[in-house]
Amino acid sequence: DGKKVAEAVKKDLKKRISKLGFKPGLAVVLVGDNPASELYVKLKEKTSKELGFHFELHRLDKDTDELALLNLIDKLNQDKKIHGMLVQLPLPKQIDEKLIIDAIRPDKDADGLSPMNMGNLLSGNNKVIPATPKGVIKLIESTGIKIEGKRAVVVGRSNIVGKPVSVLLQQKNATVTMCHSKTEPLEEHTKQADILVVAAGKPRLITADMVKKGAVVIDVGINKVMGKSIGDVDFDDVKKVAGYITPVPGGVGPMTIAMLLENVLQCIWLQGKLKT
Ligand code: NAD
Repeated sequence: DGKKVAEAVKKDLKKRISKLGFKPGLAVVLVGDNPASELYVKLKEKTSKELGFHFELHRLDKDTDELALLNLIDKLNQDKKIHGMLVQLPLPKQIDEKLIIDAIRPDKDADGLSPMNMGNLLSGNNKVIPATPKGVIKLIESTGIKIEGKRAVVVGRSNIVGKPVSVLLQQKNATVTMCHSKTEPLEEHTKQADILVVAAGKPRLITADMVKKGAVVIDVGINKVMGKSIGDVDFDDVKKVAGYITPVPGGVGPMTIAMLLENVLQCIWLQGKLKT
């Protein structure tokens, strides 16, 4: 139950924020009018405000060029009210995503996606951990199972989810297999998994016959099918064999937002403005 675990994280965050003596500041940059991005940004704003954050939304037109976006990031990098920021992805085609993410100060990079934070993660020197992968690990740990020594299979190898999830599971001493769109046959790997994390963006890709009995199944996917959000895992089928399974919605989604806001406090600590 991602909502329940996220509520516990938010309760703890609220307590930590009340001791700060100032409002943590989060800035979100939204370029264009992608409906899914609009929804994610709205949810981030709502939760930020509930927890007592200073929240800023910076909207730019879909035709914005790289220079305008870089200028805004530069301003936010220097803004003392802003402790963490993120640029909502995906960006319009004319903008180089890597260039933009690289411009965010690593100690204000609330999404943890900048090359510095990703490099630190890879070398085991975790600074800001990407929000969704951090939420995935928290959900696995909430089951009480020990990750160490388990066989973990991650379906998807994106920078945002698959790669960092795999690194975090390895750090916790799981034996990790990464699968992707060219893995053949996928079920040969997924069937071996004690822990199965799926982030492929393919509705109902994973069915019960592909899952080991008792496995922990974390479904990261969000797919719009006939106006409804569904995951990458066929929930009703897989719940018959899984030991634990996250729903969509109400699984990884709420955790992502809670972890993003926790990351802003991590940024404040990295900036030397927090003692504990
Ligand atoms: P992406 O498109 O960048 O990457 C998808 C990955 O899945 C790729 O590595 C690809 O090789 C792999 N893949 C695609 N089809 C496959 C198949 N048939 N078999 C095996 N592997 C396959 O996507 P992403 O950004 O990593 O997101 C993945 C999903 O997670 C999407 O549905 C996205 O909406 C969702 N997501 C959810 C959250 C959240 O907070 N819940 C956050 C980020 C992404």
